[in-house]
Amino acid sequence: MFKLNEKAAGLTPYAPNTAALPVRLDANESFLPLPDALREKILREALALPMNRYPDPEARALREAFASRYGVPAENVCAGNGSDELISVLLQTFLQKGDALATVSPDFSMYAFYGYLAECRHVEIEAGADWEISVDKVIETCNKENVRLLIFSNPCNPTGRGVPREEILRLVRSVSALVVVDEAYMDFWDQSVLNVCTEYDNLLVLRTCSKALGLAALRVGFAVGNGTLIGALQAARSPYNVNALSQCAAAAVLRETEFCDGAARALIAAKGALEAGLRRIAEETGGFSPVPSCTNFVTLRLPDAAALNEALRAAGVSVRHFGGLSALRITAGTEEENAAVLSAVRDYFAKEKKGGAS
Ligand SMILES: *Cc1c(COP(=O)(O)O)cnc(C)c1O
Repeated sequence: MFKLNEKAAGLTPYAPNTAALPVRLDANESFLPLPDALREKILREALALPMNRYPDPEARALREAFASRYGVPAENVCAGNGSDELISVLLQTFLQKGDALATVSPDFSMYAFYGYLAECRHVEIEAGADWEISVDKVIETCNKENVRLLIFSNPCNPTGRGVPREEILRLVRSVSALVVVDEAYMDFWDQSVLNVCTEYDNLLVLRTCSKALGLAALRVGFAVGNGTLIGALQAARSPYNVNALSQCAAAAVLRETEFCDGAARALIAAKGALEAGLRRIAEETGGFSPVPSCTNFVTLRLPDAAALNEALRAAGVSVRHFGGLSALRITAGTEEENAAVLSAVRDYFAKEKKGGAS
């Protein structure tokens, strides 16, 4: 009988929230639909695609649209089937079995998952009590543990906290490891290292169309770095990794500067409103503290996160519960969605304050 190896037997599938609740604030997606005119333009272009042919293996038009929006050379950009695919490919490419991979904790769970598949040695660097990241500690650990690759999100998912650009560059200059900065949420903050990343031989930056640009369904992400790193990544990825419909649609959206800028501004404003609302409730009732966020979500820390999660579900609101961290991550939504979550949070803590919460 065929038996799975230890690695395959140890896998558990990624489990996103799938409950069909009316208010879905659990996956950090954008709440903004594409404007009708832009959707129609994409459809017209899609109709003209030769579906019997493989897509452009180099995703040229897509990379050029990204490069021109973000001010980087197109030849320094590698496109992926979501940045998730790029994380998987880059860990397999830049690490060999047994190499040390460092991640920060808490952070995006997929880093450790793909690191496991790449059979590397995992070094976890704990964030501070307020989830702040000490760059000195990261540097020290990387050098002491002979870390080959360090990957972390900035701003961080799930904490919402960010490390300033100068600190990131100091880190890159102070370690021999390849540093991969996942800037999935950097459209919501202004501390990107994208425009200088090609000057370093040990820095890769990841970006995605899934958050601020509102294209999570298309699965499009990017890696940017110097020619040597991007050349290796281009060689390692599968040849037609980004399908023709996604190439066409994401390129069309990236060219719409006004839509992209406006969408980021609207999501930042929505996060500001959600954060302010939560802060007001926290001041009134106590019981939890929203972590200041540089992203499109707000994370709450509280002793009984599971109970608040249940109360939100009962009110029809889906958020992301991190049991191990005793935290809830709430994506900023429309005014109505934010109102629904705020009212459910207020009710929960009002009851708890009266000692009535069960
Ligand atoms: C959402 C997210 C991504 C994006 O993944 P895609 O595969 O591009 O949709 C990457 N990194 C982090 C930290 C994220 O939160």
